[in-house]
Amino acid sequence: RAKAEGRDGFRFFDESMDESVKLRRGIEQDLRQAIQQGRGLSVHYQPQMDSSGTRVIGLEALLRWQHPTRGLLAPDAFISIAEETGLIGDLGRLVIRDACGVARDWPSLSIAVNLSPVQFRTRDLAAEVIDIVHSSGARPSQIELEVTESILLDDDDVVRTALTQLRAAGFRIALDDFGTGYSSLSYLSKFSVDKIKIDRSFTSRLGEATDAAAIIHAVVRLGHAMGLSVSAEGVETGEQRAFLESAGCNELQGFLFSAAVPAQSLKSVLREQQQAA
Ligand code: C2E
Ligand code: MG
Ligand code: MG
Ligand code: MG
Repeated sequence: RAKAEGRDGFRFFDESMDESVKLRRGIEQDLRQAIQQGRGLSVHYQPQMDSSGTRVIGLEALLRWQHPTRGLLAPDAFISIAEETGLIGDLGRLVIRDACGVARDWPSLSIAVNLSPVQFRTRDLAAEVIDIVHSSGARPSQIELEVTESILLDDDDVVRTALTQLRAAGFRIALDDFGTGYSSLSYLSKFSVDKIKIDRSFTSRLGEATDAAAIIHAVVRLGHAMGLSVSAEGVETGEQRAFLESAGCNELQGFLFSAAVPAQSLKSVLREQQQAA
């Protein structure tokens, strides 16, 4: 991108890049330390509800980092750095191990784990995930692996083989943030997945933009026609919940029900959800 801006643009860009490179290097060092010392990184869990939003049927594992000076960081602040530096492998293993523990504590709930495209490229991910889950004593059928559409763009056999192996081992695969990437319907039939998660941007535009409703209807119909379960992310209001239920979404997730909470808080959050139902 810098090159495309020409000589002057390049110089200007270069200077501002200096600061952000420094910032990212700092975060990388801190992250490396956090991983080595096993300190600061934790996994929070967000409830996933049934179609009416009354019953918790699953939990999504979401990484958090209590940074020594910057406070509690959301993944957007460090996942891309972890991907660039190879640290994503360590983070991925940490999250899966934690999720397996929660899976054993909550045998009736499905536990979703996000996987970065980089994790597929740098190692034998399928073997690693299968190994971690087996040695933890959790059941693969209880674990759902969330990948984004961008992973399907790498039309190479590595990804397809890994997904096939994971599904054969009993894991379910969900397509996360559906509709935001270079969605191509042909990918959906080429790679076998079990669920699509309609991106939060469509949910949040419900009520403002009529096309959001039309898109959601179309995605639900498409998903169901292909035998997939359809989930909607980012449900924040009762109106959105009602629309999504009537549109036929199978699962709902969002702040209306609960944000992600530490594993220790799950007991009280799930009890509250049960009482609200
Ligand atoms: P995602 O997988 O699409 O996760 C959903 C994100 O939306 C989470 O943000 C969640 O806190 C947020 N969210 C849920 N409900 C609502 C809502 O009603 N309103 C709004 N405004 N937001 C809502 P979070 O935890 O900051 O994670 C951001 C992204 O970082 C995730 O998006 C996922 O792509 C990535 N991520 C998180 N944990 C991991 C991980 O362990 N590994 C990898 N590779 N990526 C992760
Ligand atoms: Mg996700
Ligand atoms: Mg998502
Ligand atoms: Mg996302």
